[in-house]
Amino acid sequence: MANWDVIVIGGGHAGCEAAAAAARAGARTLLLTHKLETIGEMSCNPAIGGLGKGHLVREIDALDGLMGRLADKAGIQFRMLNRSKGAAVRGPRSQIDRRLYREAMQAELSATPNLEIAAAAVEDLIVEDGRVAGAVDAEGRAYRAGRVVLTTGTFLKGVIHRGEERIPAGRVGDQPAIGLSDRLYALGLNMGRLKTGTPARLVGSSIAWDRLEMQAADDEPVPFSFLTDRIEVPQIACGITYTTAETHRIIAERLGESAVYGGKLTGRGPRYCPSIEDKVVRFADKESHQIFLEPEGLDDDTVYPNGISTSVSEETQDLFLRTIPGLENVQVRRYGYAIEYDYVDPRELFPTLEVKALPGLYLAGQIQRHHGLRGGGRAGPGRRPQRRPRREGLGARPVRPRRGLHRRPDRRSRHPRRHRALSDVHQPGGVPPDAPRRQRRPAAH
Ligand SMILES: Cc1cc2nc3c(=O)[nH]c(=O)nc-3n(C[C@H](O)[C@H](O)[C@H](O)COP(=O)(O)OP(=O)(O)OC[C@H]3O[C@@H](n4cnc5c(N)ncnc54)[C@H](O)[C@@H]3O)c2cc1C
Repeated sequence: MANWDVIVIGGGHAGCEAAAAAARAGARTLLLTHKLETIGEMSCNPAIGGLGKGHLVREIDALDGLMGRLADKAGIQFRMLNRSKGAAVRGPRSQIDRRLYREAMQAELSATPNLEIAAAAVEDLIVEDGRVAGAVDAEGRAYRAGRVVLTTGTFLKGVIHRGEERIPAGRVGDQPAIGLSDRLYALGLNMGRLKTGTPARLVGSSIAWDRLEMQAADDEPVPFSFLTDRIEVPQIACGITYTTAETHRIIAERLGESAVYGGKLTGRGPRYCPSIEDKVVRFADKESHQIFLEPEGLDDDTVYPNGISTSVSEETQDLFLRTIPGLENVQVRRYGYAIEYDYVDPRELFPTLEVKALPGLYLAGQIQRHHGLRGGGRAGPGRRPQRRPRREGLGARPVRPRRGLHRRPDRRSRHPRRHRALSDVHQPGGVPPDAPRRQRRPAAH
C-alpha cells in the first residue's frame, strides 16, 4: 500500500489550492478526484472574484496560491466593481473562459513537484488510533497518509431538484459521494443540508444580441495576481437584459414546481444568492430584475444568464425565458436546477480547518459552508497560528506566513501598517478618485 504525507480529495477550487499548497510546502501529496478531466472545473458561474470575493483572490495570490494567476490566463471580461467607492470595497472580477481555466489548472498541477494525481471515487476514510490514516476508494483500494483534506464541494449525498425530477448527483453529470458522508456522520459531527442553484445554459446564436444593451470589459484590465504584468487574453462584452411582468407572472403561477417553494427541500443557501423564484416572491414590488448574459468562453457558444438560477420544470424554464427581451427565440443547452448536499458545521473545525474530533482530517471549501474560493486559500499547511503552539501543519515543513497577516480582527485598527498592507492587496496601485461609477454585477458563484 502506497504512502503519502497528505491526501487531498476533490479537484475543485479548494482541492487544487490545497494540493498545490501542501506539495509546495514539501509534503508528498496525492490528489484524488473523480475525473482527471474535471480538475479545475467551475460548477456554476464561470467567474472569479466580485464584491466580497475579489480581495480574497488577491489574498490567496499573496500566499502564493494558484487562483489569481490562472484567472489572469483565462479571464475574458475583467471589471473592477464598485470603482467609484473606497478602495476597501472595490471588487476585482472576471468572467472566465471555462476551458482555458481548466486547462491552465491541470497544466499547473501536473507540473507541481511532490504532487501525484489519480482518478478515484473516495468512499471511506481509514481511522487508526483515533486519528485519520488515509482513504479508501470505491474499488476498495487504500491510500495511506497522516493528513487527509476533504474538499468534496456539493457532492456529499448531492441531489438535483428540477420540477418533479430528483437526480442523485454531485453536480450535473457527476455521481454523488455517499459513503464519505456516512463516515462523517458516524464521527458524530454536527452536519446539515444546504442548497444552491444554477440557471439554464443558453445557445448564444439563438439570442438577439443586436437588441441588447452591451457591457464591455474595462479598458485596462487589472490582473488579480501580483505576478501578472498584463492581461493577454482577448476581452469580450456581455449582454444585459431584464425579466418582465410576464416572466414574474409565469413563475408566480408555477411556484409549486420550485424545489424550495414546493416544499421539496429544506436546505438553506450557503450565502445570499437568491433564485429567480426567491426574487419574485421576496421582492414582489419590483417590476423587473437585471440579467447579465455571459459567454462561457471565447470559442464556446454557451451563455450563462447571471441572475436567474431556478429549479422549476424544463417546460416552465422554456416559457419564462422566452418572455425576456432578446431571448424570445432562445434555445436551452442545459436546464437550470437546484442541488441539495450535506455540509459539516464549521464549528467542528479548528481555525486550521482540522476536524476537532478526528486529528489529521481537514475540511476545505463548500463542504464546510465556504466558497471553494475562500476555503481553498485557507487549506494550506499552517495557514493560521494555533492558540497553543503545535507543529501540526499538513506537510513535513509547515509554512508560517508573517505574523502580521494573522492578527485578530479586533486589533486591526491599532496596526496601521497591516491595514495598509491589506489595502494594497485589495487594490495595488490604487484607482483614481474620479473613476466612473460602474454597473453592479450579481455575485459570481
Ligand atoms: C448547481 C451549483 C450551483 C452553485 N451555486 C453556488 C452559489 O450560489 N454560491 C456558492 O458559493 N457556490 C455555489 N456553488 C458551489 C460552487 O461550485 C463552489 O462555490 C465551489 O465550486 C466549491 O468549490 P469546492 O472546491 O469546495 O468544490 P467543487 O468545486 O464542487 O469540487 C469538488 C471536487 O471534489 C470531487 N469529489 C467530490 N467527492 C469526491 C469523492 N468522494 N472522491 C473523489 N473526488 C470527489 C469532485 O469530483 C470535484 O472535483 C454551486 C455549485 C453547483 C453545483
